[in-house]
Amino acid sequence: MVHRRTQVAIIGAGPAGLLLGALLARHGIDAVIVEQRSAEYVLSRIRAGVLEQTTVDLLREAGVADRCLKEGLTHEGIELSFDGALHRIDFRALTDKHVTVYGQTEVTHDLMQSRASSNLMTDYEAESVEVSGFDCERPAVRYLKGGVSHELACDFIAGCDGYHGICRASVPTDAISTYEKVYPFGWLGVLADVPPVRHELIYANHDRGFALCSQRSRTRSRYYVQCSLDDQADQWSDEAFWDELRRRLPAEIAEAVTTGPSIEKSIAPLRSFVAEPMRFGRLFLAGDAAHIVPPTGAKGLNLAATDVGYLARGLAEHYLERSSSGLDHYSTRCLSRVWKAERFSWWFTSLMHRFPDAGAFGSRLQQAELAYLVGSRSASSALAENYVGLPL
Ligand SMILES: Cc1cc2nc3c(=O)[nH]c(=O)nc-3n(C[C@H](O)[C@H](O)[C@H](O)COP(=O)(O)OP(=O)(O)OC[C@H]3O[C@@H](n4cnc5c(N)ncnc54)[C@H](O)[C@@H]3O)c2cc1C
Repeated sequence: MVHRRTQVAIIGAGPAGLLLGALLARHGIDAVIVEQRSAEYVLSRIRAGVLEQTTVDLLREAGVADRCLKEGLTHEGIELSFDGALHRIDFRALTDKHVTVYGQTEVTHDLMQSRASSNLMTDYEAESVEVSGFDCERPAVRYLKGGVSHELACDFIAGCDGYHGICRASVPTDAISTYEKVYPFGWLGVLADVPPVRHELIYANHDRGFALCSQRSRTRSRYYVQCSLDDQADQWSDEAFWDELRRRLPAEIAEAVTTGPSIEKSIAPLRSFVAEPMRFGRLFLAGDAAHIVPPTGAKGLNLAATDVGYLARGLAEHYLERSSSGLDHYSTRCLSRVWKAERFSWWFTSLMHRFPDAGAFGSRLQQAELAYLVGSRSASSALAENYVGLPL
């Protein structure tokens, strides 16, 4: 058995765990990350791509924003497509803010590089991870690595292990409440090394279903179409995907789409989920371990970043100022932000997608609401404010 001790044991090396580790290192707080997958596997996951300014500020605070600031694309608006036409929501004019397009894979890469160059410890490929003692003074993490048992004693455990992780599942059921909505469709996504069709993202409401023209860089595009939950990604040829995408876009945009071979194709189900509270004694849940939003509002990665922003501040106050205030308020502060993002993501999803039971009336209501949205400055401002996000 290998015995070690650290101040904060972080479960999961996704964006939440890695960013928390980087922020804690800035405060001189020792942390070990325990991750069940290999580093290569973690880096191969294609996910989010839109960063709020608050997330970029946290990357800067963690000392890992250089490449994001240099290579990230500033987006000062999005376009909504409905009724065959495009309508721009101008973030700069409505909120004086913008978002940055920089892939989650790049964020993860930068955080991993920074961790490795500072010799901070991450134990990848940990099996049978268990957390215990968080309801008393002796929290610990146990796992197997290469057939050898490890025990990591710590002051606190940060559960950054995503929706399917073990931290939330280790909490007694009578201590936690969960709220969930599963949507009756998914997103079929394609990543391709082709230039994006427009400089900004296009969100399309169409009779055939939702479509999104997104991007990761000036040469790499990420496109999505709403699909059935019964669909399989490998049953969609590239050609069928591009045809379906173009059918859901206004004619001049459809003609301008550059197609090419997909380098990744997958289907993501859509879900809204919140677990309350986010603190259980010495265990703190952060990111997807505590909440999931449908990706329409681009909030998942940003919420993970702000959770660990609050947690890092609370832990710094605990160790450096001997104050428990930040940790005591962690759950309430996060959940206030989480529910705002849940409401926005649910609303934007409901507005843009075809629901099987909505009928013609539901579809006309969507058109009426979209027309109101783009015709009213206060309605456009509300969308823009929610999309660009709140300060920490
Ligand atoms: C297919 C897909 C597409 C998405 N697209 C978008 C998007 O377009 N925009 C957006 O904002 N968000 C999107 N999201 C959401 C966004 O990617 C997540 O919100 C973000 O990854 C959350 O980061 P996290 O660190 O909390 O969790 P994760 O990224 O899930 O990381 C959790 C980590 O914990 C590890 N882990 C799990 N269990 C254990 C265990 N028992 N022991 C040790 N380690 C464990 C996992 O291997 C993983 O590395 C998408 C998510 C998915 C799944």
